[in-house]
Amino acid sequence: MRTGELSGCPQRMETTPLRTALGRARLPRYTSYPPANRFDAGIGPETVAAWLEELPADGPVSLYVHVPFCRRVCFFCACRTQVARGDAPLDAWLAHIAREIALVRARLPGRLPVRRLSLGGGTPTILSPEALDRLGELLCGAFDIGADAEISVEIDPGACDAARIDALARMGVRRATIGMPDLDPRVQRTTGRTQSLEVTRETVAELRARGIDRIGFELLYGLPHQTAAGLGATLEAALAEAPDRIALPGYAHVPWISRRQRMIPEDTLPGPEARMALAEGAAARLHEAGYVQVGIDHFARPDDALARAAAAGTLGRSFQGYEPEPAATLIGFGPSAVSRLPQGFAQNAGGTGAWQSEISSGRLATRSGWRLSARDAAIGRAIERIMCDGTVDLSWYPQAPATELLLRARTAMIELPGLGRVEGNRITIDTMTGARLLASRLDPDFAPERDNFSLAC
Ligand code: SF4
Repeated sequence: MRTGELSGCPQRMETTPLRTALGRARLPRYTSYPPANRFDAGIGPETVAAWLEELPADGPVSLYVHVPFCRRVCFFCACRTQVARGDAPLDAWLAHIAREIALVRARLPGRLPVRRLSLGGGTPTILSPEALDRLGELLCGAFDIGADAEISVEIDPGACDAARIDALARMGVRRATIGMPDLDPRVQRTTGRTQSLEVTRETVAELRARGIDRIGFELLYGLPHQTAAGLGATLEAALAEAPDRIALPGYAHVPWISRRQRMIPEDTLPGPEARMALAEGAAARLHEAGYVQVGIDHFARPDDALARAAAAGTLGRSFQGYEPEPAATLIGFGPSAVSRLPQGFAQNAGGTGAWQSEISSGRLATRSGWRLSARDAAIGRAIERIMCDGTVDLSWYPQAPATELLLRARTAMIELPGLGRVEGNRITIDTMTGARLLASRLDPDFAPERDNFSLAC
Protein backbone atom coordinates (compact mmCIF):
# COMPACT_ATOMS: atom_id res chain seq x y z
CA MET A 1 0.00 0.00 0.00
CA ARG A 2 1.29 3.45 -0.87
CA THR A 3 1.62 5.78 2.08
CA GLY A 4 2.78 9.33 2.65
CA GLU A 5 2.17 12.83 1.42
CA LEU A 6 -0.31 13.44 -1.35
CA SER A 7 1.98 13.85 -4.32
CA GLY A 8 -0.37 16.17 -6.16
CA CYS A 9 -0.30 18.85 -3.43
CA PRO A 10 1.03 22.07 -4.91
CA GLN A 11 3.75 23.61 -2.79
CA ARG A 12 3.22 27.19 -3.99
CA MET A 13 0.01 28.49 -5.44
CA GLU A 14 -0.74 31.74 -7.17
CA THR A 15 -3.29 33.88 -5.34
CA THR A 16 -6.01 35.27 -7.61
CA PRO A 17 -9.41 36.87 -6.90
CA LEU A 18 -11.03 33.56 -7.93
CA ARG A 19 -8.81 31.47 -5.64
CA THR A 20 -9.45 33.83 -2.74
CA ALA A 21 -13.21 33.68 -3.37
CA LEU A 22 -13.11 29.88 -3.59
CA GLY A 23 -11.06 29.51 -0.42
CA ARG A 24 -13.17 31.84 1.70
CA ALA A 25 -16.65 31.17 0.41
CA ARG A 26 -19.21 29.46 2.59
CA LEU A 27 -21.87 28.39 0.17
CA PRO A 28 -24.88 26.09 0.01
CA ARG A 29 -24.23 22.63 -1.38
CA TYR A 30 -27.17 23.15 -3.73
CA THR A 31 -28.67 19.72 -3.21
CA SER A 32 -31.89 21.56 -4.01
CA TYR A 33 -32.93 24.91 -5.37
CA PRO A 34 -33.91 26.75 -3.32
CA PRO A 35 -31.74 25.34 -0.50
CA ALA A 36 -33.69 23.90 2.43
CA ASN A 37 -32.86 26.81 4.77
CA ARG A 38 -35.14 28.98 2.61
CA PHE A 39 -38.10 26.61 2.64
CA ASP A 40 -41.44 28.19 3.45
CA ALA A 41 -43.22 27.29 6.70
CA GLY A 42 -46.50 27.82 4.85
CA ILE A 43 -46.12 24.47 3.07
CA GLY A 44 -47.72 21.97 5.44
CA PRO A 45 -49.19 18.47 5.61
CA GLU A 46 -52.38 19.29 3.69
CA THR A 47 -50.48 20.72 0.72
CA VAL A 48 -48.11 17.77 0.58
CA ALA A 49 -50.96 15.26 0.93
CA ALA A 50 -52.56 16.82 -2.16
CA TRP A 51 -49.24 16.70 -4.04
CA LEU A 52 -48.88 12.97 -3.24
CA GLU A 53 -52.41 12.28 -4.52
CA GLU A 54 -51.53 13.90 -7.86
CA LEU A 55 -48.52 11.63 -8.53
CA PRO A 56 -48.80 9.37 -11.58
CA ALA A 57 -49.70 5.78 -10.67
CA ASP A 58 -46.81 4.30 -12.66
CA GLY A 59 -44.04 6.16 -10.81
CA PRO A 60 -41.17 5.48 -10.48
CA VAL A 61 -40.10 7.03 -7.19
CA SER A 62 -37.03 7.02 -4.98
CA LEU A 63 -37.28 6.60 -1.21
CA TYR A 64 -35.10 7.89 1.61
CA VAL A 65 -35.36 6.74 5.23
CA HIS A 66 -33.63 8.85 7.88
CA VAL A 67 -32.50 7.03 11.03
CA PRO A 68 -31.71 9.89 13.42
CA PHE A 69 -29.60 7.98 15.96
CA CYS A 70 -25.96 7.10 16.51
CA ARG A 71 -24.09 5.27 19.26
CA ARG A 72 -21.59 8.12 19.38
CA VAL A 73 -21.38 11.63 18.10
CA CYS A 74 -18.58 12.78 15.84
CA PHE A 75 -17.86 16.45 16.49
CA PHE A 76 -17.55 17.33 12.80
CA CYS A 77 -20.98 15.94 11.96
CA ALA A 78 -23.76 18.36 11.06
CA CYS A 79 -26.34 15.65 10.34
CA ARG A 80 -29.65 15.50 12.19
CA THR A 81 -28.75 12.79 14.66
CA GLN A 82 -28.56 12.15 18.38
CA VAL A 83 -27.03 9.53 20.64
CA ALA A 84 -29.49 6.71 21.41
CA ARG A 85 -29.06 5.07 24.79
CA GLY A 86 -30.84 1.75 24.89
CA ASP A 87 -33.43 0.43 22.46
CA ALA A 88 -36.51 2.41 23.57
CA PRO A 89 -35.95 5.39 21.20
CA LEU A 90 -35.25 3.01 18.33
CA ASP A 91 -38.46 1.08 18.98
CA ALA A 92 -40.42 4.34 19.13
CA TRP A 93 -38.81 5.50 15.85
CA LEU A 94 -39.76 2.23 14.12
CA ALA A 95 -43.36 2.43 15.35
CA HIS A 96 -43.65 5.97 13.97
CA ILE A 97 -41.95 5.11 10.67
CA ALA A 98 -44.59 2.38 10.25
CA ARG A 99 -47.33 4.97 10.77
CA GLU A 100 -45.65 7.48 8.46
CA ILE A 101 -45.31 4.91 5.67
CA ALA A 102 -49.02 4.07 6.09
CA LEU A 103 -49.99 7.77 6.04
CA VAL A 104 -48.03 8.39 2.83
CA ARG A 105 -49.27 5.18 1.20
CA ALA A 106 -52.89 6.17 1.88
CA ARG A 107 -52.36 9.30 -0.26
CA LEU A 108 -50.61 7.60 -3.17
CA PRO A 109 -52.46 6.47 -6.30
CA GLY A 110 -51.08 2.93 -6.00
CA ARG A 111 -48.15 0.77 -4.96
CA LEU A 112 -45.56 2.83 -6.83
CA PRO A 113 -42.45 1.21 -8.33
CA VAL A 114 -39.21 2.16 -6.62
CA ARG A 115 -36.03 2.98 -8.51
CA ARG A 116 -33.82 3.65 -5.51
CA LEU A 117 -34.08 3.22 -1.73
CA SER A 118 -31.47 4.84 0.54
CA LEU A 119 -31.07 4.26 4.26
CA GLY A 120 -29.20 7.13 5.87
CA GLY A 121 -28.85 9.06 9.04
CA GLY A 122 -27.46 8.94 11.59
CA THR A 123 -26.46 5.32 11.66
CA PRO A 124 -28.97 2.97 9.99
CA THR A 125 -27.18 -0.08 11.40
CA ILE A 126 -27.95 1.09 14.93
CA LEU A 127 -31.27 -0.72 14.29
CA SER A 128 -31.38 -4.35 15.37
CA PRO A 129 -31.53 -7.07 12.69
CA GLU A 130 -35.20 -7.59 13.59
CA ALA A 131 -35.93 -3.87 13.20
CA LEU A 132 -34.17 -3.82 9.81
CA ASP A 133 -36.27 -6.82 8.72
CA ARG A 134 -39.43 -5.03 9.87
CA LEU A 135 -38.46 -1.84 8.03
CA GLY A 136 -37.94 -3.87 4.85
CA GLU A 137 -41.38 -5.49 5.25
CA LEU A 138 -43.07 -2.13 5.78
CA LEU A 139 -41.50 -0.58 2.69
CA CYS A 140 -42.15 -3.63 0.51
CA GLY A 141 -45.77 -3.67 1.65
CA ALA A 142 -46.32 -0.06 0.60
CA PHE A 143 -44.15 0.12 -2.52
CA ASP A 144 -43.22 -2.11 -5.42
CA ILE A 145 -39.52 -2.68 -4.75
CA GLY A 146 -38.35 -4.96 -7.55
CA ALA A 147 -35.05 -6.72 -8.07
CA ASP A 148 -33.81 -3.84 -10.21
CA ALA A 149 -34.27 -1.24 -7.46
CA GLU A 150 -30.96 -0.07 -6.02
CA ILE A 151 -30.97 -0.28 -2.23
CA SER A 152 -28.11 1.43 -0.44
CA VAL A 153 -27.03 2.09 3.12
CA GLU A 154 -24.58 4.33 4.99
CA ILE A 155 -22.30 2.34 7.29
CA ASP A 156 -20.30 3.35 10.35
CA PRO A 157 -18.00 0.32 10.76
CA GLY A 158 -17.94 0.96 14.51
CA ALA A 159 -21.69 0.26 14.70
CA CYS A 160 -22.25 -2.71 12.44
CA ASP A 161 -21.97 -6.46 12.87
CA ALA A 162 -22.50 -9.67 10.91
CA ALA A 163 -26.13 -10.11 12.01
CA ARG A 164 -27.03 -6.61 10.81
CA ILE A 165 -25.23 -7.16 7.51
CA ASP A 166 -27.27 -10.36 7.10
CA ALA A 167 -30.43 -8.31 7.64
CA LEU A 168 -29.30 -5.71 5.09
CA ALA A 169 -28.68 -8.50 2.57
CA ARG A 170 -32.19 -9.88 3.23
CA MET A 171 -33.57 -6.43 2.53
CA GLY A 172 -31.83 -6.47 -0.86
CA VAL A 173 -29.11 -3.91 -0.10
CA ARG A 174 -26.41 -3.98 -2.79
CA ARG A 175 -24.54 -0.73 -2.19
CA ALA A 176 -22.84 0.49 1.00
CA THR A 177 -21.03 3.74 1.73
CA ILE A 178 -18.41 3.39 4.44
CA GLY A 179 -17.64 6.49 6.49
CA MET A 180 -13.89 6.82 7.04
CA PRO A 181 -13.17 10.54 7.52
CA ASP A 182 -9.45 10.27 8.44
CA LEU A 183 -7.36 7.53 10.06
CA ASP A 184 -4.82 9.89 11.65
CA PRO A 185 -5.08 9.32 15.46
CA ARG A 186 -4.72 13.04 16.19
CA VAL A 187 -7.56 13.93 13.84
CA GLN A 188 -9.67 11.13 15.33
CA ARG A 189 -9.03 12.31 18.91
CA THR A 190 -9.92 15.90 18.05
CA THR A 191 -13.10 14.94 16.23
CA GLY A 192 -14.29 12.23 18.63
CA ARG A 193 -14.38 9.75 15.75
CA THR A 194 -12.20 6.78 16.59
CA GLN A 195 -12.13 4.15 13.88
CA SER A 196 -9.67 1.38 13.28
CA LEU A 197 -8.59 0.34 9.82
CA GLU A 198 -8.84 -3.33 10.82
CA VAL A 199 -12.52 -3.08 11.79
CA THR A 200 -13.23 -1.12 8.63
CA ARG A 201 -11.57 -3.77 6.47
CA GLU A 202 -13.47 -6.55 8.24
CA THR A 203 -16.76 -4.73 7.66
CA VAL A 204 -16.02 -4.38 3.94
CA ALA A 205 -15.13 -8.10 3.74
CA GLU A 206 -18.38 -9.04 5.57
CA LEU A 207 -20.42 -6.87 3.23
CA ARG A 208 -18.83 -8.35 0.13
CA ALA A 209 -19.24 -11.91 1.45
CA ARG A 210 -23.01 -11.32 1.61
CA GLY A 211 -23.30 -9.85 -1.87
CA ILE A 212 -23.25 -6.20 -0.83
CA ASP A 213 -20.41 -5.61 -3.22
CA ARG A 214 -20.90 -2.08 -4.50
CA ILE A 215 -18.65 -0.38 -2.00
CA GLY A 216 -18.04 3.33 -1.60
CA PHE A 217 -15.97 5.26 0.92
CA GLU A 218 -16.60 8.73 2.28
CA LEU A 219 -13.56 10.69 3.47
CA LEU A 220 -13.43 14.32 4.57
CA TYR A 221 -10.89 17.01 3.88
CA GLY A 222 -10.41 20.15 5.96
CA LEU A 223 -10.59 18.39 9.35
CA PRO A 224 -8.76 19.69 12.44
CA HIS A 225 -5.05 18.81 12.51
CA GLN A 226 -5.43 17.13 9.12
CA THR A 227 -2.24 16.86 7.08
CA ALA A 228 -1.52 15.86 3.51
CA ALA A 229 0.28 12.80 4.86
CA GLY A 230 -2.69 11.75 7.03
CA LEU A 231 -5.28 12.29 4.33
CA GLY A 232 -2.98 10.59 1.84
CA ALA A 233 -2.65 7.52 4.07
CA THR A 234 -6.43 7.38 4.57
CA LEU A 235 -6.94 7.61 0.84
CA GLU A 236 -4.46 4.80 0.20
CA ALA A 237 -6.28 2.63 2.76
CA ALA A 238 -9.56 3.27 0.97
CA LEU A 239 -8.04 2.58 -2.46
CA ALA A 240 -6.62 -0.71 -1.19
CA GLU A 241 -10.24 -1.90 -0.79
CA ALA A 242 -10.88 -1.21 -4.49
CA PRO A 243 -14.14 0.72 -3.97
CA ASP A 244 -16.43 1.66 -6.84
CA ARG A 245 -16.77 5.19 -5.50
CA ILE A 246 -15.03 7.61 -3.17
CA ALA A 247 -16.73 10.75 -1.92
CA LEU A 248 -14.47 13.51 -0.65
CA PRO A 249 -16.55 16.45 0.59
CA GLY A 250 -14.97 19.30 2.52
CA TYR A 251 -15.61 19.64 6.23
CA ALA A 252 -17.78 22.69 6.85
CA HIS A 253 -17.22 24.32 10.22
CA VAL A 254 -20.61 25.81 11.10
CA PRO A 255 -20.75 25.76 14.93
CA TRP A 256 -23.60 28.30 14.88
CA ILE A 257 -25.71 25.59 13.24
CA SER A 258 -24.18 22.39 14.62
CA ARG A 259 -23.48 22.86 18.33
CA ARG A 260 -21.33 19.74 18.56
CA GLN A 261 -18.81 21.40 16.27
CA ARG A 262 -18.00 23.78 19.15
CA MET A 263 -15.89 20.91 20.49
CA ILE A 264 -13.46 21.52 17.63
CA PRO A 265 -10.97 24.35 18.33
CA GLU A 266 -10.95 26.71 15.37
CA ASP A 267 -7.18 27.12 15.49
CA THR A 268 -6.74 23.42 14.64
CA LEU A 269 -8.49 23.82 11.28
CA PRO A 270 -6.49 24.17 8.06
CA GLY A 271 -6.74 27.59 6.42
CA PRO A 272 -8.36 28.19 3.02
CA GLU A 273 -5.19 27.56 0.99
CA ALA A 274 -4.32 24.42 2.96
CA ARG A 275 -7.88 23.12 2.45
CA MET A 276 -7.64 23.61 -1.27
CA ALA A 277 -4.24 21.91 -1.35
CA LEU A 278 -5.69 18.89 0.48
CA ALA A 279 -8.62 18.65 -1.95
CA GLU A 280 -6.45 19.10 -5.02
CA GLY A 281 -3.82 16.63 -3.83
CA ALA A 282 -6.44 13.98 -3.11
CA ALA A 283 -8.15 14.56 -6.47
CA ALA A 284 -4.81 14.19 -8.27
CA ARG A 285 -4.14 10.88 -6.50
CA LEU A 286 -7.62 9.59 -7.35
CA HIS A 287 -7.17 10.47 -11.02
CA GLU A 288 -3.82 8.70 -10.98
CA ALA A 289 -5.56 5.64 -9.51
CA GLY A 290 -7.98 5.58 -12.45
CA TYR A 291 -11.05 7.22 -10.89
CA VAL A 292 -12.97 9.89 -12.74
CA GLN A 293 -14.37 12.93 -11.00
CA VAL A 294 -18.14 13.05 -10.75
CA GLY A 295 -19.65 16.40 -9.83
CA ILE A 296 -17.87 18.51 -7.26
CA ASP A 297 -16.62 15.93 -4.77
CA HIS A 298 -17.28 12.36 -5.93
CA PHE A 299 -14.94 10.01 -7.75
CA ALA A 300 -15.90 6.73 -9.40
CA ARG A 301 -14.45 3.93 -11.48
CA PRO A 302 -15.17 4.62 -15.16
CA ASP A 303 -17.50 1.59 -15.34
CA ASP A 304 -19.54 2.62 -12.28
CA ALA A 305 -23.12 3.81 -12.87
CA LEU A 306 -22.29 7.24 -11.43
CA ALA A 307 -19.39 7.77 -13.85
CA ARG A 308 -21.45 6.49 -16.77
CA ALA A 309 -24.31 8.84 -15.89
CA ALA A 310 -21.85 11.74 -15.63
CA ALA A 311 -20.50 10.94 -19.09
CA ALA A 312 -24.02 10.67 -20.51
CA GLY A 313 -25.26 13.90 -18.90
CA THR A 314 -27.89 12.01 -16.84
CA LEU A 315 -26.37 12.58 -13.42
CA GLY A 316 -28.67 14.08 -10.81
CA ARG A 317 -28.10 15.85 -7.51
CA SER A 318 -30.33 15.32 -4.53
CA PHE A 319 -30.24 15.51 -0.75
CA GLN A 320 -28.32 12.23 -0.73
CA GLY A 321 -25.61 13.60 -3.04
CA TYR A 322 -25.15 12.47 -6.63
CA GLU A 323 -27.21 9.73 -8.24
CA PRO A 324 -27.52 8.33 -11.76
CA GLU A 325 -30.80 9.01 -13.56
CA PRO A 326 -32.78 10.19 -10.53
CA ALA A 327 -36.52 9.61 -10.38
CA ALA A 328 -38.55 12.81 -10.58
CA THR A 329 -40.08 12.00 -7.20
CA LEU A 330 -38.21 11.35 -3.97
CA ILE A 331 -40.21 10.56 -0.83
CA GLY A 332 -38.41 11.02 2.48
CA PHE A 333 -39.36 9.35 5.76
CA GLY A 334 -38.19 10.19 9.26
CA PRO A 335 -37.25 13.40 11.08
CA SER A 336 -35.86 16.18 8.86
CA ALA A 337 -36.24 14.04 5.71
CA VAL A 338 -36.88 16.04 2.54
CA SER A 339 -39.21 14.96 -0.26
CA ARG A 340 -38.88 16.22 -3.82
CA LEU A 341 -42.15 16.09 -5.72
CA PRO A 342 -42.97 17.47 -9.17
CA GLN A 343 -44.86 20.32 -7.48
CA GLY A 344 -42.11 21.25 -4.99
CA PHE A 345 -40.17 20.28 -1.88
CA ALA A 346 -41.37 19.22 1.56
CA GLN A 347 -39.30 18.78 4.71
CA ASN A 348 -40.36 16.89 7.82
CA ALA A 349 -40.07 18.32 11.33
CA GLY A 350 -36.39 18.10 12.29
CA GLY A 351 -36.57 17.01 15.92
CA THR A 352 -37.41 13.36 16.57
CA GLY A 353 -39.98 14.35 19.23
CA ALA A 354 -41.69 16.90 16.97
CA TRP A 355 -41.77 14.42 14.08
CA GLN A 356 -43.25 11.68 16.30
CA SER A 357 -45.84 14.06 17.69
CA GLU A 358 -47.07 15.00 14.18
CA ILE A 359 -47.19 11.38 13.05
CA SER A 360 -49.00 10.34 16.25
CA SER A 361 -51.72 12.87 15.48
CA GLY A 362 -52.35 11.14 12.16
CA ARG A 363 -50.89 13.88 9.96
CA LEU A 364 -47.89 14.00 7.67
CA ALA A 365 -44.94 15.55 9.51
CA THR A 366 -44.25 18.30 6.94
CA ARG A 367 -42.86 21.39 8.67
CA SER A 368 -41.81 23.45 5.64
CA GLY A 369 -41.35 23.23 1.89
CA TRP A 370 -41.36 25.11 -1.38
CA ARG A 371 -43.88 25.29 -4.21
CA LEU A 372 -41.85 25.50 -7.43
CA SER A 373 -42.75 28.20 -9.95
CA ALA A 374 -41.70 27.80 -13.60
CA ARG A 375 -38.85 30.27 -12.92
CA ASP A 376 -37.69 28.33 -9.84
CA ALA A 377 -37.73 25.09 -11.84
CA ALA A 378 -35.62 26.62 -14.64
CA ILE A 379 -33.07 28.12 -12.23
CA GLY A 380 -32.95 24.83 -10.28
CA ARG A 381 -32.35 22.83 -13.46
CA ALA A 382 -29.52 25.14 -14.53
CA ILE A 383 -27.86 24.98 -11.09
CA GLU A 384 -28.20 21.18 -11.03
CA ARG A 385 -26.48 20.87 -14.42
CA ILE A 386 -23.63 23.14 -13.28
CA MET A 387 -23.23 21.08 -10.08
CA CYS A 388 -23.32 17.81 -12.07
CA ASP A 389 -21.71 18.59 -15.46
CA GLY A 390 -20.03 21.96 -15.02
CA THR A 391 -21.94 23.21 -18.06
CA VAL A 392 -25.50 24.02 -19.07
CA ASP A 393 -27.08 24.85 -22.42
CA LEU A 394 -29.99 27.23 -21.90
CA SER A 395 -31.25 27.06 -25.51
CA TRP A 396 -34.42 25.18 -24.55
CA TYR A 397 -35.13 27.06 -21.34
CA PRO A 398 -37.99 29.56 -21.08
CA GLN A 399 -36.71 32.89 -22.39
CA ALA A 400 -37.04 35.06 -19.28
CA PRO A 401 -35.10 32.83 -16.83
CA ALA A 402 -32.54 31.96 -19.56
CA THR A 403 -31.83 35.66 -20.19
CA GLU A 404 -31.57 36.28 -16.44
CA LEU A 405 -29.18 33.32 -15.93
CA LEU A 406 -26.93 34.32 -18.85
CA LEU A 407 -26.67 37.88 -17.51
CA ARG A 408 -25.79 36.61 -14.04
CA ALA A 409 -23.19 34.23 -15.44
CA ARG A 410 -21.54 36.93 -17.60
CA THR A 411 -21.30 39.24 -14.59
CA ALA A 412 -19.70 36.48 -12.49
CA MET A 413 -17.17 35.69 -15.25
CA ILE A 414 -16.14 39.37 -15.46
CA GLU A 415 -15.75 39.70 -11.68
CA LEU A 416 -13.89 36.40 -11.28
CA PRO A 417 -11.57 35.75 -14.24
CA GLY A 418 -10.88 32.04 -14.57
CA LEU A 419 -14.30 30.95 -13.28
CA GLY A 420 -15.57 29.97 -16.72
CA ARG A 421 -17.13 31.28 -19.91
CA VAL A 422 -20.42 32.04 -21.65
CA GLU A 423 -20.66 31.05 -25.32
CA GLY A 424 -24.01 31.66 -26.96
CA ASN A 425 -26.58 30.09 -24.66
CA ARG A 426 -24.07 27.82 -22.94
CA ILE A 427 -22.46 28.50 -19.55
CA THR A 428 -19.36 26.46 -18.68
CA ILE A 429 -17.04 26.54 -15.68
CA ASP A 430 -13.30 25.96 -16.04
CA THR A 431 -13.07 23.42 -13.17
CA MET A 432 -15.63 21.77 -10.92
CA THR A 433 -14.00 23.58 -7.98
CA GLY A 434 -15.93 26.64 -9.09
CA ALA A 435 -19.35 24.96 -9.37
CA ARG A 436 -20.80 26.07 -6.04
CA LEU A 437 -19.45 29.58 -6.50
CA LEU A 438 -21.09 29.90 -9.92
CA ALA A 439 -24.28 28.28 -8.60
CA SER A 440 -24.45 30.95 -5.90
CA ARG A 441 -24.07 33.61 -8.62
CA LEU A 442 -26.91 32.07 -10.66
CA ASP A 443 -29.09 31.93 -7.54
CA PRO A 444 -31.01 35.24 -7.54
CA ASP A 445 -31.79 35.08 -3.82
CA PHE A 446 -28.36 34.02 -2.51
CA ALA A 447 -27.51 36.13 0.54
CA PRO A 448 -24.07 35.44 2.08
CA GLU A 449 -25.11 36.42 5.59
CA ARG A 450 -28.12 34.05 5.51
CA ASP A 451 -26.79 31.21 3.34
CA ASN A 452 -23.32 31.05 4.90
CA PHE A 453 -23.54 27.38 5.62
CA SER A 454 -22.49 24.17 4.03
CA LEU A 455 -23.97 21.15 5.70
CA ALA A 456 -22.63 17.69 5.09
CA CYS A 457 -26.09 16.14 5.11
S1 SF4 B 1 -20.59 11.01 11.21
FE1 SF4 B 1 -22.00 9.27 11.19
S2 SF4 B 1 -21.60 8.19 13.14
FE2 SF4 B 1 -20.69 10.25 13.34
S3 SF4 B 1 -22.34 11.48 14.32
FE3 SF4 B 1 -22.54 11.76 12.09
S4 SF4 B 1 -24.02 10.23 11.44
FE4 SF4 B 1 -23.31 9.62 13.50
